[in-house]
Amino acid sequence: MNKHDQPLIFELSKAGRIGYSLPELDVPEVNIDEMIPSDYLRVEEPELPEVSELDIMRHYTALSKRNHGVDSGFYPLGSCTMKYNPKINENVARYNGFAHIHPLQDESTVQGALELMYDLQEHLKEITGMDEVTLQPAAGAHGEWTGLMMIRSYHEANNDTARTKVIVPDSAHGTNPASATVAGFETITVKSGEDGLVDLEDLRRVVGPDTAALMLTNPNTLGLFEENILEMTEIIHSAGGKVYYDGANLNAVLSKARPGDMGFDVVHLNLHKTFTGPHGGGGPGSGPVGVKEDLIPFLPKPVLVRTDEGYHFDYNRPQSIGRVKPYYGNFGINVRAYTYIRSMGPDGLKAVTEKAVINANYMMRRLEPYFDLPYDRHCKHEFVLSGRRQKKLGVRALDIAKRLLDFGYHPPTIYFPLNVEECMMIEPTETESKETLDDFIEAMIQIAKEAEENPEIVQEAPHTTVISRLDETLAARKPVLRYQIQ
Ligand SMILES: *Cc1c(COP(=O)(O)O)cnc(C)c1O
Repeated sequence: MNKHDQPLIFELSKAGRIGYSLPELDVPEVNIDEMIPSDYLRVEEPELPEVSELDIMRHYTALSKRNHGVDSGFYPLGSCTMKYNPKINENVARYNGFAHIHPLQDESTVQGALELMYDLQEHLKEITGMDEVTLQPAAGAHGEWTGLMMIRSYHEANNDTARTKVIVPDSAHGTNPASATVAGFETITVKSGEDGLVDLEDLRRVVGPDTAALMLTNPNTLGLFEENILEMTEIIHSAGGKVYYDGANLNAVLSKARPGDMGFDVVHLNLHKTFTGPHGGGGPGSGPVGVKEDLIPFLPKPVLVRTDEGYHFDYNRPQSIGRVKPYYGNFGINVRAYTYIRSMGPDGLKAVTEKAVINANYMMRRLEPYFDLPYDRHCKHEFVLSGRRQKKLGVRALDIAKRLLDFGYHPPTIYFPLNVEECMMIEPTETESKETLDDFIEAMIQIAKEAEENPEIVQEAPHTTVISRLDETLAARKPVLRYQIQ
């Protein structure tokens, strides 16, 4: 039982209750056993819940109300860019010509969709300063792996096979070392300095003839712009390595600075973050990858090209790393990103970055008196606080995150990056009003006071949710995802 005295396991099924009605059979009945091999047929009827249509409607509606999304409340989850997803994107994605085409249709019948993809690639080239873009990868992490496979093929094509190591800063997102490992590289960590930026001395120490690439996020996951970026890309290039840009934080530099101009060779973008595809909950994403000239031959195939006869897929790419995703990538997310880019325009995209950065700096400065600020300098679109002070009072970052649920907020990212003790990483995004920012700030200030005066209320939070604290390890490792009849 939970604190609201509601049973946690609920059972709505009632024998004989029906929530559907099918018309009378008006085609000849077939013998299933003849059509489908018997191994594929179930032996016993499954035990399904027996509920009415209204029961099931209320069940799912109740579940949806317990969920938290950008459309229901503030969601300052650092590094995830949980900004508002304009509904015009949804309208366009539902156009018949986009929603009802089939990936196996002949190219000549989907020229409009191909044009949109081609145009989107062109916009992303312009935005990132890269020479060519693929839309195939399904998410940021998938883009990382795709980019690293291209770098690998590039070195192999040059018979430069001793390059087995990928350098990753200690503040990097966990997907960076994971992608490097899956792409067959060994990961080497480079330290951050006191100022939160990559320590150049340490970078010079770890770079060498075995360096395949450096993966970098800029601004980094502390929300800080890597000021020595040109020097860093130069250090790697002169050692013969390539430089990979994790573009998850592009919201901070959009229309202001371009990874291509910073010296990066490969870039992935998270269209579901920066370019407003709805995300969270494991829905489809899109992680296009941009490359500089010398990596173009290795792009995943097919490559979308424009000819005098129209758009078509070029499969004749002998050095390609191959396909990384069936069909067209996650086309629906690409339509949303394209709509967003076109409806914002260059000035709109510039305003996005400016507001995202101002919102983050405003919040950081107002919270600074109440929490430790490990890096006291202008941030970009996000910033990190440390809960060190509160920890001495017995209140952990986890407790603060849980207490925020009582105020109706999605908590910030916590315990990441790993190099900040009791880390809380806050990304307000540009789409939030000053009132929302102020309300959240007040909630954080109240929690800081509670930690001093009444720590139990924070330690035992949340108090307003249906269930209080989950065993998060068990929930992640042994999730119960399937209905089981009681
Ligand atoms: C979100 C994120 C990723 C991974 O992107 P997905 O689209 O979730 O796979 C990689 N790096 C950083 C810095 C991120 O914030």
